[in-house]
Amino acid sequence: MRELTGKVAVITGAGSGIGRGLAQAFAAAGMRLVLADIDGASAEETCALLQLPPSRAIPAQVDVAQLTDVERLADVAYGQFGAVDVLCNNAGVVPWQRAGDADRLVWEWVVAVNIWGVINGIETFLPRMRAQGTPGHIVNTASIAGVLPSRVSSLYSTTKFAVVGLSETLREELKETGIGVSVLCPGAVRTRIRETSGQNHPAGMDAAAAVPNRTGLGAAAGALEPEKVAAMVLDAIRDNRLYIFTEPALRPLVDERWRLMME
Ligand code: NAD
Repeated sequence: MRELTGKVAVITGAGSGIGRGLAQAFAAAGMRLVLADIDGASAEETCALLQLPPSRAIPAQVDVAQLTDVERLADVAYGQFGAVDVLCNNAGVVPWQRAGDADRLVWEWVVAVNIWGVINGIETFLPRMRAQGTPGHIVNTASIAGVLPSRVSSLYSTTKFAVVGLSETLREELKETGIGVSVLCPGAVRTRIRETSGQNHPAGMDAAAAVPNRTGLGAAAGALEPEKVAAMVLDAIRDNRLYIFTEPALRPLVDERWRLMME
């Protein structure tokens, strides 16, 4: 998709961090936007920041883990704009526990948001995007923790490896359709993920549970600003590239993994 002006993008997790950065970069590229977040007020805030009329950008309160919410999001997007060209399954959470010590509710929550959230987006939007018969693109946000072992949490890595695997294979499956797939694998990006994850804890968990900063996720010195990441995503959509690594040193490791798989 070389030309993005006027194209319609749906972004989940658009109320904060990388999702907000994507919204700003896409708006600057002349795209029309549906900005979804479980925190509806934060989605509205992103929308207000863009200073665009409803013909260009609308907010939506959506829990990506709930299929009915995502179906409603699709109805809103198609109702408002009549098409969806770019889908960014970006919403995600980071857990505060590791395998072996984790409450089952925390496992279920992380899997529901980080894996089912992406599946719900794909299963809901892809058939409609295919039916449009126009070029499209899906960007799934994974992590470096979806490519290499990380210090964040085994729960988090489980979900992000799933998103990488899904994205790699979906791209192959969609090869003939004109719909590209990219997977965003950031390292540390300056966002509020540890706080927002603490706020969006599953029912019954301690609301004050803090996500420990084991890796600097979201805050490390040298962390990238979301705008930088968003610019990389725009380039990857235009060039139809699969991997979006914010740390270029990772590329050879992934190439080696593919080589071993294909042998
Ligand atoms: P963030 O917390 O700033 O933004 C995430 C947004 O997702 C928040 O606004 C939150 O309210 C929303 N959200 C949470 N659960 C949701 C749900 N069930 N439905 C809809 N929205 C929901 O965090 P971020 O760092 O911008 O994270 C965006 C993505 O980037 C995540 O998938 C995360 O795993 C990934 N990531 C972040 C980093 C980093 O260092 N920040 C690194 C690698 C990957």
